[in-house]
Amino acid sequence: MIPFNVPPFTGNEIRYIEEAIQQGKISGDGIFTRRCSTWMEEKFDACRILLTTSGTAALDMALLMCGLKPGDEVILPSYTFSSTANAAVLAGARLVFVDIRPDTMNIDEGLIEAAITDKTKAIIVVHYAGVACEMDTIMSIARMHGLKVIEDAAQGVMSQYKGRYLGTIGDFGCYSFHETKNYSMGEGGALVINDPEYIERAEILREKGTNRSKFFRGQVDKYTWVDFGDSYLPSELNAAYLWAQLENAKGIYEDRMQSWKLYYDRLTDMYEQGYIELAQIPDTCIQNAHMFYLKVKDLKERTGMLAYLNKNDILAVFHYVPLHSAPAGLKFGRFNGDDRYTTSESERLVRLPLYYGLETKNIEYITDTVKRFYFRR
Ligand SMILES: *Cc1c(COP(=O)(O)O)cnc(C)c1O
Repeated sequence: MIPFNVPPFTGNEIRYIEEAIQQGKISGDGIFTRRCSTWMEEKFDACRILLTTSGTAALDMALLMCGLKPGDEVILPSYTFSSTANAAVLAGARLVFVDIRPDTMNIDEGLIEAAITDKTKAIIVVHYAGVACEMDTIMSIARMHGLKVIEDAAQGVMSQYKGRYLGTIGDFGCYSFHETKNYSMGEGGALVINDPEYIERAEILREKGTNRSKFFRGQVDKYTWVDFGDSYLPSELNAAYLWAQLENAKGIYEDRMQSWKLYYDRLTDMYEQGYIELAQIPDTCIQNAHMFYLKVKDLKERTGMLAYLNKNDILAVFHYVPLHSAPAGLKFGRFNGDDRYTTSESERLVRLPLYYGLETKNIEYITDTVKRFYFRR
């Protein structure tokens, strides 16, 4: 069976975990956490990056810092993971779902303004498959209406929009280092803070409401409980794993891009003949090969294709079931405007295996099997 995902492993992970243990420091904010955040701050040209226990935790922190009040509204796409919406619910907001663009599966920037009311406080954009949303338009709408922008860049680590790294464009960016993402620490994530005004609040929120970070930097002489907080810092053991990945980020990136391009090249004829559709990467974006997906005619054809791939030892899967029609989506929010694409496009989407180290011969076999699905009779 060709798995859908294999957690990335580059070779130095175990050595670094051992090093963390030998240092006698396995709780958070030790040398490996510092190495990871400094590396990312420099690479992505970010003001401040804090490692978190998950991408979900980073989203929670971002939304908690937006200062929402009960009844405030947050705009987001319905085609996303539950975490994107949960963060807004945790912060007390009502959800206002907006339709996506069929070419990128990202929020349709042209529909955002119509969803803004006098209760709207923030927009969460999701860079689906590591392909950038139309950030210039989104940022100018947000600035005009005084809204915060949170980038759910869980899938977008190392991707760019007009030369800027995803996560560094909005007020906050959220990364995930879950084992299914390009760079991993098992469970983990990071919060990108792009407005220096929020750094201190974020540190306090992450450290159980204490000013411990300031204390360790010698900026205050005792540490105490100063505000509401939670525990969002990951263990050094996880950070050590991530450090081995970031050190080899270029290798992982290039390996995935090579696989993605091979898939694309080998399926281009099927695309040109109209059997399938392939992802469109806008000129404004440099993607990170987080995902390789194709779209088939409809739900029935997709069910058939997934079964056929499975029968041929390939674990291909579908993706998000739209949130607005899920039980919690109905409870916490509403869809603004028409659902032209969210449901219909999500039903046509098939994700093929893609992971660090995926072999060329497997991609050849998978693409041949996709073709055989159409030509077998
Ligand atoms: C993976 C993912 C998350 C959640 O990240 P975790 O690290 O698993 O908590 C949130 N949003 C999107 C779009 C994701 O793909």
